[in-house]
Amino acid sequence: PDTVRLQGVGFGYAETTRVLRDVNLTLPAGSFHFLTGPSGAGKSTLLKLLTLAERPQSGTVEVFGEDAGSAPRSAIPHFRRRMGLIFQDFRLLDHLTAYDNVGLPLRLAGVKDEVWGPDAEEMLTWVGLGQKMDVHPPALSGGEKQRLAIARAVVTRPDLILADEPTGSVDARMGERLLKLFQALNKLGSTVLIASHDEALAERSGARVLRLEGGRLTGGEA
Ligand code: ADP
Ligand code: ADP
Repeated sequence: PDTVRLQGVGFGYAETTRVLRDVNLTLPAGSFHFLTGPSGAGKSTLLKLLTLAERPQSGTVEVFGEDAGSAPRSAIPHFRRRMGLIFQDFRLLDHLTAYDNVGLPLRLAGVKDEVWGPDAEEMLTWVGLGQKMDVHPPALSGGEKQRLAIARAVVTRPDLILADEPTGSVDARMGERLLKLFQALNKLGSTVLIASHDEALAERSGARVLRLEGGRLTGGEA
């Protein structure tokens, strides 16, 4: 089964029409793709269609084998529960410690305290924040916030991981380390899509590379 299937998708904003034109994209379950393209090409917009934050103006968006593009707003949580989202602006909860930020999605999913605690610790250690568990986000560096956002997004082992420029705030070495983390999660079964303008990282990753330019997507057919 395919995790994502877009057919003939067109989308534009009121002030920026025709951001995406006739986009066809298949992400088979368990696949790993990079989405590249210059700034303003529509990478974030394409992610928003997958998270159901925006709806296609033409064509169809299927996620987890279901019609997501025309699902009612009330169905959005049903889709998002199976996704791990890494936003460009992190969206961390500043009043919670790093530990509680990572534990929150597990608690919301009803995981028992004695289970989510060790899971949160393990994930924080994995992203190199084992010594910063009790720190609040405002006291973290940009790269640390980025790693915390990734830990929180993936701790529930989501079926689909969508990341918008997840290596934008870290140096090259940390970028490679985060790439390895995404690859490990992919091996555990998550379908992964990483939007990045870093063509070199995309090429080195060995993942399939999709390119957006002039509203058109290339490399998207399975
Ligand atoms: P990328 O992620 O590749 O940098 P975006 O998807 O953010 O590209 O943006 C694609 C185009 O849509 C750009 O021209 C951008 O200015 C425009 N755009 C993005 N969001 C909005 C919005 N909310 N309203 C109007 N135009 C937007
Ligand atoms: P809105 O608040 O208008 O619904 P979103 O919350 O969907 O918009 O997105 C706002 C910003 O979050 C975008 O500029 C984009 O960078 C980022 N974003 C949106 N969807 C995703 C995603 N699936 N993964 C990572 N980042 C995303």
